[in-house]
Amino acid sequence: MTLSILYRGPLSSCNYACGYCPFAKRTETAAELAHDRDCLERFVGWADGRAYPVGVLFTPWGEALVRRWYQDALAALTNMPNVVKAAIQTNLSCKLDWTDGCDKAKLALWCTYHPGETTRERFLAKCRELIERGVRFSVGVVGLKDHLAEIAALRAELPPAVYLWVNAYKREPDYYTPQMVDALTAIDPLFPVNNTRHPSRGQPCRTGHTVVSVAGDGTARRCHFVDTPIGNIYDADFESCLMPRPCPNATCGCHIGYVHLQPLGLSERFGAGVLERVPLARRASEGPTS
Ligand code: SF4
Ligand code: SF4
Repeated sequence: MTLSILYRGPLSSCNYACGYCPFAKRTETAAELAHDRDCLERFVGWADGRAYPVGVLFTPWGEALVRRWYQDALAALTNMPNVVKAAIQTNLSCKLDWTDGCDKAKLALWCTYHPGETTRERFLAKCRELIERGVRFSVGVVGLKDHLAEIAALRAELPPAVYLWVNAYKREPDYYTPQMVDALTAIDPLFPVNNTRHPSRGQPCRTGHTVVSVAGDGTARRCHFVDTPIGNIYDADFESCLMPRPCPNATCGCHIGYVHLQPLGLSERFGAGVLERVPLARRASEGPTS
C-alpha cells in the first residue's frame, strides 16, 4: 500500500494578490514562519521513518515554494527510498535552481497561472525552465470569465504535452453559459468533471484509507473537507486508523477530494500522476509532461 498524504501546515501567506483569495498578500511574522518550518521538518523526518511507500502533495494555504524550507523538504523527500512522489501546489513565482537537489523522477509541480499577478510570458518562461530542468508538472487556471481569452492563449502557447486543467468557478450558480462550458471543455476535457459537485454521501472514497490530509501538528483527517480527525501521524499506532470508510459529506466539488471518490474512476484515469494532476492518457498518448 502507498499512503498518499495531502500536507497542509500552518503557513498561510502569499506573495500574490488574487482578488478571490483570503491569503492574497497576507504576511506572517518571523515566529509564525519558524513554526511552519518546524512543523514541516518534523513531518519530513516522520516520512523518512516509514516502512511503506509514501506520496506527498503539499497543498498550502498560500504560496509555499518561495520559502526555502519547502524547497529543502521536496529535495529531502524525493531522495528518500520509500517516497514515491513529492509534489506541491504553487504559483510558480519562485526560482527553480533548488530542483537540482531533487530526484526529478519523483518531483512534480502543480502550477497555477494567475493572470493579473504575472504575465503569460513570464509564466511560460518558468514552464520552459521546468521542461529544461526535467521537472514533471501540470498547469492550471481558475476559469474566471474575465480570463477566458487568456486561458485560450495560454493553451495555444503551452507545449501540447503539458496538461492544462481548468478549475470551474463555482461560487456563483450558473456562472457559465453552455458556450463557455464547451470552450473550456475543449481546453480541458475534464472541465465538466470539475464543474460538478459530485454527490458523495455514503460513497466509497480512498481518503482515510490510502489517502490522508495531515496538518502541521500531525493531526490526520481523511481529507481537507471533513473536519473530524481520524488520528495523528506522530502516534505510534497511527496506521491503525487507516481503513475504508464512506464519505460523510453530501457532495465533493474539489479536485483534490473527488479524485479519490471511487465511483468516479479518476484515480485510474490519473494513475501515477494523481498527486500532480497529470492524467494517464496524456502521458501515454503525448509523452511525458517534462
Ligand atoms: S496565488 Fe494562490 S494563494 Fe496566492 S493569492 Fe493567488 S490564489 Fe491565493
Ligand atoms: S468524497 Fe470528497 S468530501 Fe467525501 S471523503 Fe472523499 S474527498 Fe472527502
